Amino acid sequence: MADDRNSICKERVQSSIEEEYLCPLCYNLLLKPVECNNCQRVFCKQCIDKCLKAKPNLCPFCENYQEKRCSPMFYALLCKLKIECINKPNGCDQVLLYELIEEHETNKCLDQMKQCRGCLKNILKRDLDQHEATCDQIEIQCVKCSLIRKQNSKHDQFDCLSNKQVLLEQKIQQNEEQNKTLINKIQMAVKQLEIHNIENQQKIKQLEIANAESQEMIKCLKNELQWNDKFSKSDFIDELKKQISLSLLIEPFHGDIKTNIPLALLPQWHIIYDQLYSHKTTINEFHALLPKCSVNIIVGAISKNSPTVLSLAACGPKDILSLNTLLNQPFKHDNVYWYLTPTKSFGFSPTSVIKQESPDIVSDQGYKRLSWYLDSYGGYRVGNIINLTTSGDWRKVILSEKV
Ligand SMILES: [Zn+2]
Ligand SMILES: [Zn+2]
Ligand SMILES: [Zn+2]
Ligand SMILES: [Zn+2]
Ligand SMILES: [Zn+2]
Repeated sequence: MADDRNSICKERVQSSIEEEYLCPLCYNLLLKPVECNNCQRVFCKQCIDKCLKAKPNLCPFCENYQEKRCSPMFYALLCKLKIECINKPNGCDQVLLYELIEEHETNKCLDQMKQCRGCLKNILKRDLDQHEATCDQIEIQCVKCSLIRKQNSKHDQFDCLSNKQVLLEQKIQQNEEQNKTLINKIQMAVKQLEIHNIENQQKIKQLEIANAESQEMIKCLKNELQWNDKFSKSDFIDELKKQISLSLLIEPFHGDIKTNIPLALLPQWHIIYDQLYSHKTTINEFHALLPKCSVNIIVGAISKNSPTVLSLAACGPKDILSLNTLLNQPFKHDNVYWYLTPTKSFGFSPTSVIKQESPDIVSDQGYKRLSWYLDSYGGYRVGNIINLTTSGDWRKVILSEKV
């Protein structure tokens, strides 16, 4: 069997040894022994591993391999064996115990062969340092110029300087290339910045336009606010009141019978006839009023309790004061039915149906009916309030437009 670092042939063992100390696979002395738990055979660790790698779990003898450490007793016997150094042919005469032989052969033995780092020749370890100190294949590095050279080659000060120069020139070239790429990068960046700058200026312009527009809007809003301030709410209401009273002036009753009209809403009208309901009105009184009237007149009643309000009133042409209607046949003007029947009664009604039992006594829409006796008693009704012929609480009034 070949004898290498990983095996110990039995010839190197100093005493005669039993078969059981030999590996059944390599027939050398057991090295790092392990045991098959099934058949109790002991192998070199590396030998059985080689087998198991080819056929896993297959013991070459029992076919059912289960590894365990070999017994301490057995190992202790192995350790008592004395073994010659493998380098005996080179001159080593050391004999060592089983446990120490590996350490000696791989590290300590000066008669082992080592390879020169320069010429790669195998040299005895004891001669290696001296050999490498003079071997012309060994490479060294100059500490001044960093040149790596064979240690025996010529390298004087001039060589060193010229090498330094070469290195410097290379470095300069490298730097120039780096500078070129840097300059390129900077130029690219400058270009991009210029593009950004243009874009930003465009944005600024847009913002300036938007700003101007906003300012214009603010101006408009300010103007609107000032206008609103000038034309405040109260002003607006005053204006509305004027408009309302004006419309009332132009057509105060819209051709209808009205209730509860404040006299303040009739600034262009003045009272030309004002008597208590207990007063006995005559046709002659009406005829005497005619010259005081302009175009239209208002006929109505005012309560003592609210003396500034016409409780019930209607508007018509002044001619109604000279009417002469037959009994229960009123005269229609707009939506008002007027009647003036001598010795009977004067008044108005919202419908054509009236019943002059002297005054009109109809109760349908009675709240819009006014009726005064003529030439006999006082006033009869204000709407649904009746039998007022002796009343001092109600006034009969006739108004005319101021000329
Ligand atoms: Zn073996
Ligand atoms: Zn086995
Ligand atoms: Zn040795
Ligand atoms: Zn060498
Ligand atoms: Zn140098």
